[in-house]
Amino acid sequence: MSQKTPITVAHGDGIGPAIMDSTLQILEAAGAQLDIEEIEIGKAVYERGVPSGIEDSSWESLRRTKVFLKAPITTPQGGGFKSLNVTVRKSLGLFANVRPCISYHPFIETDHPGMDLVIIRENEEDLYGGIEYRQSQDVMASLKIISRPGCERIVRYAFEYARANGRKKVTCMTKDNIMKMSDGMFHRIFDEIGEEYKDIEQDHMIIDIGAAKVAADPSRFDVIVLPNLYGDIVSDIAAEVTGSVGLGGSSNIGADFGMFDAVHGSAPDIAGMGFANPSGLILGSSMMLVHIGQGAVASKIHNAWLKTIEDGIHTGEIFREDVSSIKVGTEDFTKAVIERLGETPKALDVKEYEDGSGAMTLPPVREKSPEKTERIGVDLNLTWGGSADELAAKVKECVNDNLDLHMISNRGVKVWPNGQPDTFCADNYRLRFLGTDGSTVTTTQVIALMDRINKADMNFTKSVMLHTFDGVEGFSKAQGE
Ligand code: NAD
Repeated sequence: MSQKTPITVAHGDGIGPAIMDSTLQILEAAGAQLDIEEIEIGKAVYERGVPSGIEDSSWESLRRTKVFLKAPITTPQGGGFKSLNVTVRKSLGLFANVRPCISYHPFIETDHPGMDLVIIRENEEDLYGGIEYRQSQDVMASLKIISRPGCERIVRYAFEYARANGRKKVTCMTKDNIMKMSDGMFHRIFDEIGEEYKDIEQDHMIIDIGAAKVAADPSRFDVIVLPNLYGDIVSDIAAEVTGSVGLGGSSNIGADFGMFDAVHGSAPDIAGMGFANPSGLILGSSMMLVHIGQGAVASKIHNAWLKTIEDGIHTGEIFREDVSSIKVGTEDFTKAVIERLGETPKALDVKEYEDGSGAMTLPPVREKSPEKTERIGVDLNLTWGGSADELAAKVKECVNDNLDLHMISNRGVKVWPNGQPDTFCADNYRLRFLGTDGSTVTTTQVIALMDRINKADMNFTKSVMLHTFDGVEGFSKAQGE
């Protein structure tokens, strides 16, 4: 192979530069055909006053190469800094985060010798939209956004990934017993798309028990597909359960771009000490080689890495007297992998990736016929220091125009009419107004209602229109309603 593939590389923060150096040495020694453009991201860029942590010129490089090998970075706490990882994923449309979590028994100590699973995490939506509001002195709110195309792409990706990689089962995890609309849609789409993949076993678990099972009995899982937040948590649990979070590589895949990194962060506690485990980024770079069609080089690196692990050459955090033969730092681990390029493991499974087998093309998202949308009411949030009954009495004076006060809730629980006396109420109430007798409601009616409430000296902080879609309510009931 002579054609070099352009890629963008960022050395990151903390242990990032050390593990990237190790990874690049191995890539070169293995004969990867790469044309590397380097960019700077993370701490130094934040400190230069760029709140996104990435300069415009770096975006240009990423758009040019479409392939990003990225070391971990440190996100400064607070102060309006946005997570660069989330920004890059969303800006490049990297909707799928793929994290294989494998145990390397008996060479790396783990309670779960049979573990070999892949987490496929939705990477763009959910609470990671970072859309948050302070609704009153006492109440903060985060919006969880889940879209039908978003669910469909990640679910289909999971099934296609399972097929392409000889995996037998896909498990979906959500909390749809509570979030019936957002998580409910994710689960429903999993069932619908699953109909097209009858060759693959499929099941669904509620996330809390699912996460517990991943920690206690991971060998029962094969591919797990999850919305963003659950995927974030479960993939760290799974990576840790393999023996060390330092072992996990990860790919972030979109229609046009791919980003490859380690599961772990920048580990500032061990930065500069010379003993960071570069394995996560090495395995991430092997996933990158498969993606860009250099499968043979990916196999060479992955097998040399497996042989190094099998030979007991271990960094400190996985070193155990009974299974390891020598404790090494980042540099010597790198040398050991390079020395083993061309060798294959004897006990662990040999990896064989084919050249050109990498990127998957997904069919377009299914068309959906338009639904009849009708506005039937509005939710208004108000800041209020008194009781729900007093609030209802005051608001009732503002109501006319076929838009009636239907219910008041606080923190999601109905508190009027007939609320429970022991319910704690914060200082922000949600008032639900519905058209009388189920009639549709116009924007003018809603604005007139808001105007009357405003003139009654009540401060509303948020409004959400309520709709039906083909006659089905597009909003949840309050708890206790
Ligand atoms: P972390 O993953 O950096 O570290 C967790 C623990 O694991 C630490 O004790 C660390 O020493 C150890 N560890 C991690 N990687 C290791 C390795 N390769 N070898 C040996 N030990 C390793 O998580 P954290 O401490 O929560 O986060 C540190 C910083 O990293 C934060 O600023 C966070 O925002 C950032 N972060 C970045 C990414 C990324 O860039 N992809 C991901 C997660 C966290």
